[in-house]
Amino acid sequence: MNFVAHFDVDAFYASVEIRDDPSLRGKPLAVAGSSRRAVVLTASYEARPYGVRSAVPLYRALEACPDLVVVPPNMAKYKAVSREIFEIFGARGLPIEGLSLDEAFVALGEMTFERACDVARAIRGDILAATQLTVSAGVASGKMVAKIASDSCKPDGLLGVAPGEEASFLAPLPVSRLWGIGPKTQAKLEAAGIVTIGDLAALDDAPLRSLLGSWSEQVRSLARGIDERPVESGRETKSISSEETFEYDVRDEAQLIALLREQAREVAEKLAREDLSAQTVGIKIKRSTFEILGRQTHLTEPTRDARRIFRAAIHCLHRAELKGAPVRLLGLRVASLVTGEPRQTGLFEVGR
Ligand SMILES: [Mg+2]
Repeated sequence: MNFVAHFDVDAFYASVEIRDDPSLRGKPLAVAGSSRRAVVLTASYEARPYGVRSAVPLYRALEACPDLVVVPPNMAKYKAVSREIFEIFGARGLPIEGLSLDEAFVALGEMTFERACDVARAIRGDILAATQLTVSAGVASGKMVAKIASDSCKPDGLLGVAPGEEASFLAPLPVSRLWGIGPKTQAKLEAAGIVTIGDLAALDDAPLRSLLGSWSEQVRSLARGIDERPVESGRETKSISSEETFEYDVRDEAQLIALLREQAREVAEKLAREDLSAQTVGIKIKRSTFEILGRQTHLTEPTRDARRIFRAAIHCLHRAELKGAPVRLLGLRVASLVTGEPRQTGLFEVGR
């Protein structure tokens, strides 16, 4: 049997800050920028009972939790830690699909279930030893179950779902946990009395098709724990991106704009560090219906300036015409990369 592991560092940015300043331990903590429109990037577990979580506007987080300690993000540091973690993911020579700075699928390959759990446990141990950070892991025959497993055992957990147990593991969970089910579809399913993944898995073809249309069979397969999508490793860095999946749907444009500003800064820093500039700026939006929407724009010249990238991203956001539609994920991506700093064409350049 082939196994996949999903790894996700617990409260990544917050955990790095707590590791580096033990006086923060045990306190409700948010990593967030300092602008008026800042959003929480990561919250410590102590802050979460107050409803403080990623993508919540900082002012709202402070209202809910007046004792909240706010630490500014240090992306350069998180990226350095991320590189260390990915080196450990890669140390066994297994294919890796990175999902974000602190999250990846690892294709464990053909082995027994016990062995697969042992390998995942060893990788968690290696990361803890090297970085003092806890990473939760899920092990299963497919990617979706592995990811749901690691989400369910956070923080500092390891959960393996044995082959043949996928459907019964998923059955009691709400349908919203299934990849592809947004709030609208969830409401439609619930109105028809389908509340859990198990309810969905048990549906016959005809009622399923009338509810979900053309993708009904694919969704039912996932609900039954059948998921054969491979781990996609070896993506080249022909583009640089930053994206954020929200823990709930975001409709507020100001919140999306605030996040794009952070992402533009993050992408610009990465360009500078790799001595690159980009001429294409694009955004990716996943609606709550899981429809993916992309818009991109070409600049007149390559740049690594965060403000120019941000302005181009805002242009893309307006062209997406969301009109308050709920958004599940927002990403900013730059491409058409060239090496070096762009030639300055501006005030200080004299006749060339
Ligand atoms: Mg994480």
